[in-house]
Amino acid sequence: MRLDAILFSQGFGTRRVCSGLIEQGWVALGEPSQSCHDPGLQCEPEGLVFWVQGQRWEYQRLAYLMLHKPAGYECSQKPGAWPSVYTLLPSALRQRPGGAACGVQAVGRLDQDTTGLLLLSDDGAFIHRLSSPRHHVPKLYQVVCEQPVEPEMVRRLLQGVMLEGEQQPVRAAACAATGSHRLDLTLTEGKYHQVKRMLAAVGNRVCGLHRSRIGALELPADLAPGTWRWLTPQQVQALQ
Ligand code: URA
Repeated sequence: MRLDAILFSQGFGTRRVCSGLIEQGWVALGEPSQSCHDPGLQCEPEGLVFWVQGQRWEYQRLAYLMLHKPAGYECSQKPGAWPSVYTLLPSALRQRPGGAACGVQAVGRLDQDTTGLLLLSDDGAFIHRLSSPRHHVPKLYQVVCEQPVEPEMVRRLLQGVMLEGEQQPVRAAACAATGSHRLDLTLTEGKYHQVKRMLAAVGNRVCGLHRSRIGALELPADLAPGTWRWLTPQQVQALQ
């Protein structure tokens, strides 16, 4: 594959922009010092390590990544009052060509004030599978409550509560108090504001919400809020 085509596929701009970056010496292969000036150079993309303007990249045919979402960001491309989580990503990830939408997309949404694990990808089938209500991937939320957590609240959350606009009760797959005002709640659906609505249904209120796990994937302790990293092929596999 031509080097300019590889850069284009990874979101570094139009073919013309990518050729320009290469001709001007902004692109290196393997090592940052090995700049390459030939846009037509033939390369094997799989496993290719390259540098663009001093930043290291690995070729990804499809992009799968996790982001530690901080509070104060919206999971929307066109946010209202708050900045978009997409602004936390390098522009190449937001510009990757292909599919109906451009760039990586969040797998489901977290509220503006929710923190924690957010997955993003440009693999439409992966996004669809993980967001589908039929997929039932468990998501673990750590909740801080305004009122003390009573055993009766935990019992009702496990048994199922009716939410406005829903035909069936929704229930937690797992729920346990972890402190006087804290609980861990595992959900297998992703309804709008589900945790907040479920806590309201049992007479409490969410003051803090953090998602620490999706399926087998735990938010790494060393992934700082606002930062992201690639998923390994094993992590992608384990989520499917
Ligand atoms: N449930 C909510 O209420 N908010 C979130 O951000 C995620 C789940």
